[in-house]
Amino acid sequence: MLLIKNGRVMDPASKTDAALDVLVDGERIARVGVNLAAPDAEIFDAAGLVVAPGFIDLHCHLREPGQELSETIETGTRAAARGGFTAVCCMPNTSPVNDSASVTRGIVERAAAKSPVRVWPIGAASIGSKGEALAEIAAMKNAGIVAVSDDGKPVATARLMRQVMEYCDSLGLPVIDHCEDQSLFAGGVMREGRHSVRLGLKGIPAQTESICVGRDVEVARLTGARLHIAHMSTRGSLEYVRTSRKEGLRVTCEVTPHHFTLTDADVRYDSNYKMNPPLASREDRDALIQGLADGSIDAIATDHAPHHPASKDVEFDRAPFGITGFETALALGLSELVHPDRLSLMRLVELLTTGPAGVLGIERKIAEGEIADLTIFSTDRSWTFRASDSPSKSRNTPFDRRTFRGAPVATVVAGRVVCKELAATPAPNSHR
Ligand SMILES: [Zn+2]
Ligand SMILES: [Zn+2]
Repeated sequence: MLLIKNGRVMDPASKTDAALDVLVDGERIARVGVNLAAPDAEIFDAAGLVVAPGFIDLHCHLREPGQELSETIETGTRAAARGGFTAVCCMPNTSPVNDSASVTRGIVERAAAKSPVRVWPIGAASIGSKGEALAEIAAMKNAGIVAVSDDGKPVATARLMRQVMEYCDSLGLPVIDHCEDQSLFAGGVMREGRHSVRLGLKGIPAQTESICVGRDVEVARLTGARLHIAHMSTRGSLEYVRTSRKEGLRVTCEVTPHHFTLTDADVRYDSNYKMNPPLASREDRDALIQGLADGSIDAIATDHAPHHPASKDVEFDRAPFGITGFETALALGLSELVHPDRLSLMRLVELLTTGPAGVLGIERKIAEGEIADLTIFSTDRSWTFRASDSPSKSRNTPFDRRTFRGAPVATVVAGRVVCKELAATPAPNSHR
C-alpha cells in the first residue's frame, strides 16, 4: 500500500481542490480522505505538492519500430514519466507504419516489457498513411489502438476522411487529423509573415491549417462522427472549432506547449525552432491561450517528436520538423499560463488529465475504486531543464537550459511510483 499524505488533491472531474490523503492499495485508489492512516503503507509526503489524476498525452512520437536512433519506446516513455505523464498515445508514423494489428501488437508488447507508463497506440487511417485505402482499423482496435490518424500528414482527401470517420464512428474511435493543405504548404519551413521575410525562409501561410480544419469540420457535419484536431496553432482553426461545437458537432482539439509559449518572432536559424505546424503569430498564440482558458480547447498535447542530433544539426531548410516535449510540458503550462494568471491551476490540470481522457472517451478521477494513476507536482519549485540529462535519445528542444517555476515530482502508474523527483534538477544559485 502507498499512502500519499498532506497533498493538495486537485480533481477536475469532481472539482475537488482540497488538502486530502490518498491511500492506494495495489493498482487502485482505496480511500481519499482527511488524516488517513495505514500502518503498513509506504508513506509519500506530498506536503506543498499537488496530487492530480495521471497526465495523459494524446500526441507523441516514440519512433519504434524503425527509427530507434532517435527514440525507443523505452527511452521515450522514461522521458514521459519524468514529465509526469502516466499514459501516452503514440502516432503511427513509424517504420513500418502502424497500419496493421501485427505492428500494433508489437508496440503493445514492447511497451509492456519496457515502458514505465501506459502506451496507447494510435493506428494509421490509411495503409502506409498513403491516403489511398483504409488501414485494417477494426483489427488494430482489437490489438489496442485508441484512435486513428495519418499524423505527419493530413487524411488525404475529404472522401477518404468521410470513409475513415464513418468507419471509426461505428468502432467508437476518434479520428485525429494533422490539418495541412499540402498545396499551400509547398515546401515552407516557418510561418509566412514578416519574420519569414526577415529570415529569408520560405513561409507557410496560416490558412494552410485552417483550410483543412474547415474541410474536416464539414466532413464531421456530413458524418456526425467524432473529429479531433491535432496540434492546432491558429486563430482561424480555433474559430472553426468553436462554431462547430456551438452547432453540437463532436469536434475536439489539442494545443502544444510550444504553440502557447513561442511565436514566429522567436524563430532563429536553429532547427530546434522548426516544427510543423510552425510557430504562429502573436495574435494566434494569444487566441490559443484564450481558447485554453475558456474551454474551447480540450487538451494540451506535447507532439514529442524526437530527432537524432545528426539529422537536426543541419541547415534550417533541410532539418526535419519537430521538437521533444515530455519533460517541459507541465513546467511551460505553469510558467506561461498559470503563474501569469492566464489560466487557473485547475484548468491546467484539466487540460492534462480529464480533457485528453474525454477525447478518448474515458474517465479519469481521484476517487475510491479508480485506477491509481497519479501525477504529483510542485507549482513553484525552481529548476533548470537540461536536455543532456534527458532519458530521451534526442536533444531537439528550444527549451534546453531554460529555468522554470514548477515541476513534476512523482509519477504513479497503477499504484506504483515509477518516477520520483528526477526532472527537478535544482536551478543554479542565483546571485542577488
Ligand atoms: Zn502532426
Ligand atoms: Zn505529430
